[in-house]
Amino acid sequence: MSFTLVIHGGAGNITPAIMNKVQEIQYTEGLKEALDKGYDILHHGGSSLDAVVAAISAMEDNPIFNAGRGAVFTKKGLNEMDAALMNGSNLAAGAVAGVRNIKNPIVLAREVMLHSGHVFLSGSGAGEFALSQGIEMAPDKYFFNQSRYDQWLEIRDTNFTQLDHKGDNLKGETVPNTGHKFGTVGAVACDVNGNIAAGTSTGGMTNKRFGRIGDSPVIGAGTYANNNTCAISCTGHGEPFLRACVAHDVSCLIEYKGLSLKDACAVVIKDKLVKMGGEGGLIAVNALGEYDFCFNSAGMYRGIRNSEGKELVAFYG
Ligand code: ASP
Repeated sequence: MSFTLVIHGGAGNITPAIMNKVQEIQYTEGLKEALDKGYDILHHGGSSLDAVVAAISAMEDNPIFNAGRGAVFTKKGLNEMDAALMNGSNLAAGAVAGVRNIKNPIVLAREVMLHSGHVFLSGSGAGEFALSQGIEMAPDKYFFNQSRYDQWLEIRDTNFTQLDHKGDNLKGETVPNTGHKFGTVGAVACDVNGNIAAGTSTGGMTNKRFGRIGDSPVIGAGTYANNNTCAISCTGHGEPFLRACVAHDVSCLIEYKGLSLKDACAVVIKDKLVKMGGEGGLIAVNALGEYDFCFNSAGMYRGIRNSEGKELVAFYG
């Protein structure tokens, strides 16, 4: 009766040089809290889907992560969030994009999966559905975070968007990171029944264009789960991840080429994506409880806790 939970809190230029002791403690505690929430569910025989939602909700509630409460600001100074959830046992999926004032976008993604008759809702339509389902809302001030705001103020009059660790105008030019705030969040889990699930939640990129949607909520790009192959949650510069269909590509390498979980992740993240100029990483688990963290950036906030007593939180490469 084994189970596994793996989480991430974003990938990027995460090095000891840009982290101070206080930040290290904050991220360690934030990741541990999320692991504990999900572990508790799995330990009591709960589903991988519920564990993923619990772990992600904990990180959405923690302003250090770029999701939910800590979501970054768009070019218009708003918080627009994306999230997706997928159930590997039946390939059911739910996703939301560009939603505002939703306290836990991952909970709304689950609601879309279970009760909308659709897979993907966006913007005001997703908001209207949230209201009709009694999903918890939060006022703008709940999402206000001074350091995120300052991060945005520094680049709002430019054409730069900023992925956590750097700005990128999509021509490869970068602006320095000033905020040191990282943190799209994701979780993948395998429960005692061998069912796997994946979820991802994000505020996207600082100063992103109004209406821009990244890879996180797109099934097959930033999020994917299939009991026969793997459950994947990605983090990084969304545009290359979208073009590379990263999460589904890993699954395909396992399904059609018979690659191991680790090898499939490495081919996509360390070879294919690098050749496309894509930076970031992913977490993965399969129905045997095997797992992987794979990234081509300097670091990735990450953690694992399983029934074999393994418990680890790490940041750096
Ligand atoms: N992939 C996310 C996006 O592009 C950002 C991130 O992972 O930090 O929206």
